[in-house]
Amino acid sequence: MPVILNNRFLLLYGSQTGQAKAIAEDIAEKAEAKGLHADIHCLSQTEKKFKIERESCVVLVISTTGDGEPPDTALKFVRHLKKKTLKSDYLSTLNYTLLGLGDSNYTNFCNCGKTLNQRLLELSAKPFYPPGWADDAVGLEVVAEPWIENLIPAITHFLKLPLDNNQSARSSTEIVPHIISEIRVTSESSSNSDTLIQDDNIISVKIINCKNVSNANNESSVANDSTKVDSDSIVYNGFPKERATNGSHIDLTSGSKITENTSIRDCVIVNGHSFSERLNGNISEISSDKVSTAIMSDSVTANSLKGDNAVNSSVGCKKERDTGSLMNSVPPLSESSLTVPILSPEYLKVDFLDTETVNVDELPLQNGCSFPSAASPVVMATVQSICTLTAPSSVKKALAVTISIAGTGITYQAGDAISVVCPNPPEEVEALLKRLGLQDKADTPMQISVIEGTKKKSAAVPKHVPPKCTLHHLFTTCLDFREPPKKALLRALMEYTSDASHQRRLQELCSKQGAVDYTCFIREPSVGVLDLLDCFTSCMPPVTCLIEHLSRLQPRPYSVCTSSRRYPDSLQFVFNVVEIPAGSGRSYHRKGLCTGWLEGLRSGVSAMSKAEDGGDNRSEDSKFSMTGDGDKTGSEAMNTGFGDSEQLSLQMQNLSLNNVKIPIFARTNQNFHQPDDLTIPLILIGPGTGVAPLIGFLQERAELKRKNPEVHHGEVWLFYGCRHRDRDYLFRDTLEAFVTSSVVTRLCVSFSRDDQPADAPRYVQDNMRRHGGDLVTLIQDKGACVYVCGDARNMAKDVNETFVDIFAEHKGLTKDDISGLFMKLRLEKRYREDVWT
Ligand code: FAD
Repeated sequence: MPVILNNRFLLLYGSQTGQAKAIAEDIAEKAEAKGLHADIHCLSQTEKKFKIERESCVVLVISTTGDGEPPDTALKFVRHLKKKTLKSDYLSTLNYTLLGLGDSNYTNFCNCGKTLNQRLLELSAKPFYPPGWADDAVGLEVVAEPWIENLIPAITHFLKLPLDNNQSARSSTEIVPHIISEIRVTSESSSNSDTLIQDDNIISVKIINCKNVSNANNESSVANDSTKVDSDSIVYNGFPKERATNGSHIDLTSGSKITENTSIRDCVIVNGHSFSERLNGNISEISSDKVSTAIMSDSVTANSLKGDNAVNSSVGCKKERDTGSLMNSVPPLSESSLTVPILSPEYLKVDFLDTETVNVDELPLQNGCSFPSAASPVVMATVQSICTLTAPSSVKKALAVTISIAGTGITYQAGDAISVVCPNPPEEVEALLKRLGLQDKADTPMQISVIEGTKKKSAAVPKHVPPKCTLHHLFTTCLDFREPPKKALLRALMEYTSDASHQRRLQELCSKQGAVDYTCFIREPSVGVLDLLDCFTSCMPPVTCLIEHLSRLQPRPYSVCTSSRRYPDSLQFVFNVVEIPAGSGRSYHRKGLCTGWLEGLRSGVSAMSKAEDGGDNRSEDSKFSMTGDGDKTGSEAMNTGFGDSEQLSLQMQNLSLNNVKIPIFARTNQNFHQPDDLTIPLILIGPGTGVAPLIGFLQERAELKRKNPEVHHGEVWLFYGCRHRDRDYLFRDTLEAFVTSSVVTRLCVSFSRDDQPADAPRYVQDNMRRHGGDLVTLIQDKGACVYVCGDARNMAKDVNETFVDIFAEHKGLTKDDISGLFMKLRLEKRYREDVWT
C-alpha cells in the first residue's frame, strides 16, 4: 500500500509511443518542485500498484491510438471501468482530471480520453480541474503546457495545501476547477483575427499556420500573436486576461544569470514582470534592464560575427534571415522578457570501458524493449524485391517492397499493416558523433547508468537503451535524433552553449513568448538536433544530455497490399520516398527515415532492381512501363499484382541470394478489413499510395472468385487519383485487369495535373460528386461499406465533406442528419478509414 501523504496524488499515464509517459513525468517533476508528491504509474499497473476506486486525487494522461482506441497499456484499465456491472457510485470518492492526447488529422480526436472522461463521470468521479485535449497536429505543447501550468496549483488547492510563493497569487477560489471547462485548439491557416474564442466555459485557441509567415510584417504580427497561444492569453471566465499561475517558468530577463559561466539550473522560479509585480514582491524576480540590454547588444555582435558561419551551414538560416529564422529573432521576441521551462535534473552518466568488448550485433533491437502496437515479436524478413512504380519524371517516387514472411510466424489479412523497424542513416550518425566530439569513442564499449543522488524522480536508463553498448549502436538503432527537439531539450542545451547570442536564441525558442518561433522554425520544418547543432555552433552538449532527452526511434507502419490467400508466404507494401530538402533551418537534404532506408536497400537487391527498371540503357521514361507493353520483368510483374507465379518464384530465387533482411512486426488493432459477406457492395477510395490495401482486398476477392465462381459478389466501386496518367498511376494494369475480370465493377480514375478538359474530374472527390446519386443508393439502399485510405491531412477530410455534400444534394438531408448517418455508419463499421499523415 502506498504511504498516505497529504501532498500525494496518483498520476497515471496510458502511453502508446511514450508521449503520455513523458508528459506525466514532466508533471511529476513540476509537482515535486512545488512540494507535491506524484505517485506515478503506467495504467497497465492497475490492480498491481493502484486501485482507482480507492484513490481520492488522480491525474490521468492518456493518448489515443488507431481508430480512436486506447493505447495497449491502458486496455485492461479501460476494460475494467467499462464493465456494466459497476455501480453508478463506484468512483464517488474519486476526484480527477485528465489530459487526453490525440491528433486532429484523424477522426475521433482524443476519443480514448473523451470516452474515459465520460465513463469516469458516469461512475460519479468528480473533476477537480477541467480536462485538456492536446493535439499532435498543432503541437501537444500548445494545450499541454498551459494545462500543466494551471494543474499544479489546482492540485495544491484541492489537497488543501498552502500555495507557495511561486504558485498562483490568485486567491484559492480563483484557481478552483471550472474556471475553464475545456481548452480546445483549432488550426487556422490564414486568420489574423482574434486568436481566442470564448464560448461559455470553453476556451478555443486558434493556431496560426506558420507556413503563411512570409515577410517581416507578418512575422511581427505572428510574433505578437504568439502571446495568444500561451496560457498568459487564455481568457478565464470572469478574470482579466492574464496567467493564472506562474508555477513552472523561470524569468530570464536578467542577464546576471545568463553569463557564460553561470548555470541557471538553480534559478529562483519567478514569473514575468507584470505578474510578479502583482505578487507584491513575494517573488524574487530577476530583472535588470541594464544587463538585459547588454545581452541584447552582445547578441547583435555575436550574430553578426558567428551568425555567418551558421548561415553558411544552413540554407534555412540564410533564407529567413530578414524575417527571423532558426538562429535569429526579430522584435518583439528579440526584445522580450522570457519565461523558460525549469531545467530537468541530469540523471545519466556514461563510462567508456576501453578495455572491454561488446558485440553489438548480438544486442536485441532497442534493448529488447517491446514496440508499441506490436502483435508479434520483431522478425527479420527477407526482401524479395524493391520495385519502382512511378516514372522517373514523377514528382514523387513510389516503391513496392516485397518481403518473404515464410517461417517468421507472421500472418496477415488483406488490409492489415506491418511495422518496419528502421535505423538512422550511418552518415548522420557519424556527423552527430563528430559534432559531439565523440567520433573516436563511437565503437568503444560504454556503460550508461544513473547518476547517484540525482534529483530526477524515478531516474532510470530508458528501457529502449541498452545499458552496455556503443555510441554507434545507440544512435543508429535506439534514439530519434531527427525529431524536432522538445523544449526541455532546448532548455538543457542552453546549459552547454557558450555564445550569448546562441544562448539567448535557444532561450527564446523554448520560452513561452517564443511559442510561434518554436513552431515556425523547429516544429513545422522538422528541424532535428543535428540541424540545431550545425546552427548553434557554440553548443557542446555532453552525450548524456541527448540520451536523456531524445525519444525512442519509432518503427513505421505500412499497409499491406497483398492478400495472404494468394501469397501466404510473402507480402508487399507500397510507399512514396519522402524527400525533405535542405532549408528552413534544415542544414542538409534528407530522405524520410524509413522510406529513404528502404530505397537504399535496392543496392542489396540490385540485380532485381535494374531489371525492373528496364535496364540502364533505356531513356528515362521508357524504363518505366505502366501499360505493360515493355519487358515483362520485375516492376511490371509487381505492378500487375505479382504477374505469373513462375516468374515470381524465379525472381525470389535470384533475390534470396542477396539475403537482405529487414526487421518487421505485425501490428495490433487491425480493423481495416473487408466484410466476410462478399455480396455486400464496396465503395473503395484510395488515391496515391492509399490504393495499397485496396489492392489487397481486390486480390482476395479475385482469389475467392476463382475458387468459387458461383458465389455472387456485390458491386465494387473504386475511386483512384494521382497526378498524371503516365507517371504515377500506381497498379494501373492490375486495376484494369480487375475491371476486365469483374472484380471491380466501376473504376473511377482522376488525374490532377494532366492537360484535360476543364470539366474533367481532377480529384477523387470530383468523381465521387459525378457519381453522387449512385453512391447514395449504394450506401442507403444496398448497404455498401465505404473504405477510405491514404492521406489523413487533406484527402480523408475532403472525402468526408464530399459525402456530406452528396447526401445533401441527393437526399436533401441536413448537415446534422448526415453527420448522424455517418456516425452510425462508423459505429456499424460500414465507414472505415486507414489514413496516415
Ligand atoms: P519520416 O522520416 O518519418 O519523415 C516524415 C516526416 O517528415 C513528416 O511527417 C513531416 O513531419 C516531415 N517532412 C516531410 N516532408 C517535409 C518537408 N518538405 N519539410 C519539412 N518536413 C517534412 N505510408 C505509405 O507510404 N504507405 C503505406 O501503406 C502506409 N501505411 C501506413 C499505415 C499506418 C497504420 C500508418 C500509421 C502509417 C502508414 N504510412 C504509410 C505512413 C508511414 O508509416 C510513414 O510515416 C511514411 O512512410 C514516412 O516515413 P519515413 O520514415 O520515410 O519519413
